Amino acid sequence: MRPVLVLVDRTATPPGVCRSTCALLTLARRLGPPMAVLCGPSDAASVALLGRFGAATIATIARGELDQHPAAARVELLSHLARRTTPAAVLVASHRLGQEIAARLAARLGSGLVSDAVDLRMGADGPVAVQSALLGAYRVESSVTRGIPVFTVRADAVAPTAAPMEPDVQRVHLNFPSAVRAVRRITRRPAGSELPPELATAAVVVAGGRGLGSRQSFGLVDALAKALHGTPGGSHTATELGWCPRREQIDQVGTIVHPRLYLALGISGSVRHRAAMRHAETIVAIDRNPRAPIFDVADLGVVGDVHRVVPELLAEISRRKAYPMISHNEETT
Ligand SMILES: Cc1cc2nc3c(=O)[nH]c(=O)nc-3n(C[C@H](O)[C@H](O)[C@H](O)COP(=O)(O)OP(=O)(O)OC[C@H]3O[C@@H](n4cnc5c(N)ncnc54)[C@H](O)[C@@H]3O)c2cc1C
Repeated sequence: MRPVLVLVDRTATPPGVCRSTCALLTLARRLGPPMAVLCGPSDAASVALLGRFGAATIATIARGELDQHPAAARVELLSHLARRTTPAAVLVASHRLGQEIAARLAARLGSGLVSDAVDLRMGADGPVAVQSALLGAYRVESSVTRGIPVFTVRADAVAPTAAPMEPDVQRVHLNFPSAVRAVRRITRRPAGSELPPELATAAVVVAGGRGLGSRQSFGLVDALAKALHGTPGGSHTATELGWCPRREQIDQVGTIVHPRLYLALGISGSVRHRAAMRHAETIVAIDRNPRAPIFDVADLGVVGDVHRVVPELLAEISRRKAYPMISHNEETT
């Protein structure tokens, strides 16, 4: 049977595999034996986790160029593996980097791309991708008619289920062409600083809305995100007002999140906002209006003023010096 390539999303701190990959493996199994493509060291925990969600093979490659240019080098690696194995499909998670990789890969392979799939199945003529349109009112089925299909998958739409395998780990040796090696990453993090995890795959997301009242108060969102080792985000209105950057916008046209913990501060919970965060495992909302729609999807609701509740929460967190950190590893193992 032809394998199905699945590009693995990794967490940096702590090192591990993102929940999104477990979701992709779950869908990949319907199309053929999954081959997980793991960039970076193949630590035992990651291998075990990939095996638990059904990876028949794990293709690993040491970092090198992958760190220097994440998209181009990964495209090179995936097209190398695609030509070597002629897979039934290639699956990549639907975040910004994933979309870039998938588009470049489809162009490189001369095949077709279906983006933001929420489901996959094997049809009579090959894999069929399901997309959700107009807030889920329509489900659109598409298939790629030429070449190796490339799919970006909205991992939030898929519940990962385990199907344990003993994966065969294969090391890939690949000489990246000069076009990849010629690119160098030139941005640098300031010494000692730590970037938060990417919004789409973060385990903890703290999002703020108009209820914060000002750009200055929006600092409470960043402070709480930092205290919980999470990633800050904002509603459409918060980004429109310039309180947080556009890349942090959580809605259907921004980023769709599926963390373990989602905290909404002063966000009413419009339909388009809820569509982008309702798959969070636990939702905590703080809003002074008890009838705010966000409470309809919240597991825990606090009716109160964010300017009072959030500082109290921060103080409590710092009192409990050893507050628990939530990692993707805990989530998926
Ligand atoms: C032209 C246009 C385009 C739009 N495009 C989009 C889009 O692309 N995506 C999208 O998602 N939406 C869009 N919207 C809709 C709108 O922007 C959303 O409803 C947005 O998500 C609302 O953001 P919010 O929840 O931050 O603000 P609001 O809906 O105003 O909610 C603020 C909440 O904060 C609470 N609050 C106020 N003060 C406090 C306080 N001190 N303490 C605690 N709570 C407090 C209020 O009770 C309220 O529930 C659009 C709207 C327009 C007009």
